[in-house]
Amino acid sequence: MYVMGIDIGSASSKAVILKDGRELAASAVVQAGTGTSGPDRVLKEIFEQSGLKRSDIACITGTGYGRYSLEIADKQVSEISCHAKGIHFMLPNVRTILDIGGQDVKAIAIDENGNVNNFFMNDKCAAGTGRFLDVMANILKLDISQLETEAAKAVKPASISSTCTVFAESEVISQLASGTDIPDLVAGICQSVATRVASLAKRVGVREEVCMSGGVAQNGGVRNAMAKELGVEIYYDKRAQELGALGAAIYAYGKSSQS
Ligand code: ADP
Repeated sequence: MYVMGIDIGSASSKAVILKDGRELAASAVVQAGTGTSGPDRVLKEIFEQSGLKRSDIACITGTGYGRYSLEIADKQVSEISCHAKGIHFMLPNVRTILDIGGQDVKAIAIDENGNVNNFFMNDKCAAGTGRFLDVMANILKLDISQLETEAAKAVKPASISSTCTVFAESEVISQLASGTDIPDLVAGICQSVATRVASLAKRVGVREEVCMSGGVAQNGGVRNAMAKELGVEIYYDKRAQELGALGAAIYAYGKSSQS
């Protein structure tokens, strides 16, 4: 039996097909989120990749910021619950999740069954989110995927004192103009995200194992800065951006295996 989870975020659209509740049959990511062609494109891609049709899928669960705009979904589940289930499936020893997406950050405490115990979220400002990193990468004329390698080359990480994205933007521009090296700036930018997210993590309580999920988890510069900031190892799955969609597929399986 096949089920699907679709995660429509602010920055990207993700879809996962699960076979018999255990096997990842297909997955797709499109770097365009709600209100764009992203949701249609991710569906087209996953159906093409898997060779399956809508009628082959027993249940579809939608999650993410844009979940209510998905007509194809049979039901909706919050992204907090979905990330928890998806991470529990991949990394069962994780008890604290730091999910950094395109426009919000969540620190989530989960139990040994992948259920949510508590969470804190920042969805009020861009500081500490993927949006902050996107703005900074744009100033430095780098692709978002280059931040990790640039941060690794840093000799003396720059200090970015403004937490507000708008002020931090001018700070980076003036440091760039005064000759600070790009790797040092990138390391400072990654550190700034880690500092913001660490304060949210401390509010929820840092219980090991700790992992990062969401698109920003792919940035090793932020993962390393977070590990130093919290003094713990940061676990990570290379499918970090798809784990909300995976969790949604797990909920879809639970629903269809009951009926
Ligand atoms: P949402 O679910 O809110 O749409 P995601 O979890 O997909 O957000 O995260 C989007 C963010 O992930 C982007 O804003 C970007 O900063 C970051 N990101 C996307 N791809 C990469 C990559 N290859 N390397 C590093 N960061 C990335």
